[in-house]
Amino acid sequence: HGDFNQKIDYVFKVVLIGDSAVGKSQLLARFARNEFSLDSKATIGVEFQTKTLAIDHKTVKAQIWDTAGQERYRAVTSAYYRGAVGAMLVYDMTKRQSFDHMARWLEELRGHADKNIVIMLIGNKCDLGSLRAVPTEDAQEFAERENLCFMETSALQATNVESAFMTVLKEIYHITS
Ligand code: GDP
Ligand code: MG
Repeated sequence: HGDFNQKIDYVFKVVLIGDSAVGKSQLLARFARNEFSLDSKATIGVEFQTKTLAIDHKTVKAQIWDTAGQERYRAVTSAYYRGAVGAMLVYDMTKRQSFDHMARWLEELRGHADKNIVIMLIGNKCDLGSLRAVPTEDAQEFAERENLCFMETSALQATNVESAFMTVLKEIYHITS
């Protein structure tokens, strides 16, 4: 029963992008199933996962797309971005390079996606604070300049994961409804 009879008011497609190994798949696993794995291969091949939730007494189905490893070859296709109304732009706060690549990912995203897409910049792995390579202020500055939301998260500790996805989904809802 359950899902079968549930009336869905909105379906929002949200895409995850960013370099390989920043934690995109684990952020999705944490949000959709409240799971986490230290073995990154565990989730390869997953196309998208859904989570149905309530916003403002409406039933919203979040359809979150994962790259299934294609980002390694920068072969994320336009089909991936098609119809997306939200995007999570993820870097690893312990890997400066993954943050430096955000501008390129953003450019690719803006080249493919709807111009009203809601974008959240995410600095993941904040549980590894002692290995931090990206100051919060650098990311905040970039986010402000590019007009993005910004949060630091930990998929491992479940810090800000729900909050990051819900912020994006609520913003999409406010634009859509
Ligand atoms: P993806 O390639 O961007 O999808 O990255 P994965 O989700 O596969 O994660 C890559 C590696 O980072 C895996 O070993 C994960 O267990 C690990 N990882 C992901 N998120 C976190 C996090 O928040 N904290 C820590 N310490 N490790 C993480
Ligand atoms: Mg992955």
